[in-house]
This record gives sequence, C-alpha cells and structure tokens, in this order.
Amino acid sequence: MVDKSIVVITAHVGDFVWRCGGAIALHAELGVPVQLVCLSYGENGESNSAWAAQAQNDRQAVKEIRRAEAERAAALLGVESLHFYDLGDYPLPESAETVDRLSRVLRAAKPQIIVTHPEKDPSNLDHCRTFNMVLGARMKAIAPGHGADFIQPPQVLCFEPHQPELCGFKPDTILDITPVWEKKQNAMQAMATQKNLWTYYERVALQRGAQGGRRAQKASMYGEAYQTIFPSARASFF
Ligand SMILES: [Zn+2]
Repeated sequence: MVDKSIVVITAHVGDFVWRCGGAIALHAELGVPVQLVCLSYGENGESNSAWAAQAQNDRQAVKEIRRAEAERAAALLGVESLHFYDLGDYPLPESAETVDRLSRVLRAAKPQIIVTHPEKDPSNLDHCRTFNMVLGARMKAIAPGHGADFIQPPQVLCFEPHQPELCGFKPDTILDITPVWEKKQNAMQAMATQKNLWTYYERVALQRGAQGGRRAQKASMYGEAYQTIFPSARASFF
C-alpha cells in the first residue's frame, strides 16, 4: 500500500489555521504526515494589529511575530514539516522559480492530496496566484520529462475562502472536525495577530458542521468545507 501524505500550500501564514486546521489535525492524528508551505508571512496585508502595536514600522519584527505564531499553531495541529518561503505579500509575486521549488516539494513528499486556496478570490489575488502556482507545480511534478522521480497526480482540495460567495466556492466535501475542534481552536488562538477572526471561524465551523451532520445523518458539531478540482474515480456509485 502506498504511504499516504498531504501537502498544504498557502499564500499567508494564517490561512492554514482558519481554513484547514481541522483537516491537518485530523489526519495528523491518523498518522498521515502533513507538510506545510507558507509562501509569505502575510506581513503586509494580514497582520494589521501587529503593525498597529508598534511605534516604528519594523517589517522584520512583524514577520518574526507571524512566524512564531505560525510555528506554534502548526505544532498544535501536528504538522510534520513547515516551510516559509518569505516571498512577500499584497501582492505575492508569481514566478517560475516558486513553481519549480514547489514541484520539488511535491516530488519529495509524493502526496495523494494537495490542499490550497480556491481558483477565484477577487478580494485577495495572492490566493489566486497561489492556486495558479500550485497547479503549475503539480503539472511539473507529474511530468516524467522533468525527472524520473515524477509523482502520481495528486487530488487538489481547495479550502473555504473568507468570502465564499465572491469566489464561486461550491463545496463538495464537508469534513467532520468535531473530534479535533479543541486543537483547531487552540491553533486559532495561537494566531493572536488575527484575533478578530477567532469567532468568525468558529461560526463558519459550526455552520459547516451542521450541514455535514445533516448530510451524514449523524451528529456533527464542527466542520470544514472543501471543493475538489479533479473527479474521483469509482468502481460503482455505492
Ligand atoms: Zn491569506
């Protein structure tokens, strides 16, 4: 049997906590290694309170705060390895070099599943650029012409964006994260710079939990929604 693994790739450090922290904790508990790449610290656009708390505009200090928060959150969720690319944000640069770097991460990890942002997000183009680079990296990683260590094509699961109705987000998977909710909540609270999102994402989780429970016909308090990019192949409908 092929070893299972997951690679999560986000534009900014906070994204993995709010949107897929439950999935990370759940699979880590199941023994599935989860590797995480944060393309930027989100220092410009997603660290507002860290800027407001300073007398001087010290970019390095803001980045260090966000890095420490992300490391703590990732440890609470059980992330196996965490990589910061420090590319800068708002806007995040899109480049062939990053695509290549990510493709090498995929070749090394051989994941069955990649988790990242959805394709569209008019309010945050960094998220769209991340999606594009991840899909580009996936293409490069599965191509034999780029090296004999090419991988089997992984599924791509897009996590729920902040404003799903703006992004054409249509979830086809709801994950019951009730058993790991406490871990996700602790990880959210580790991101003190974005304290304003704690209750917001608790509400999102409660709403998705209720929807997932209805679909599964079993009690579920907390959930996370995902949209798959590629169809799943089945031997039958049942
Ligand atoms: Zn973000």
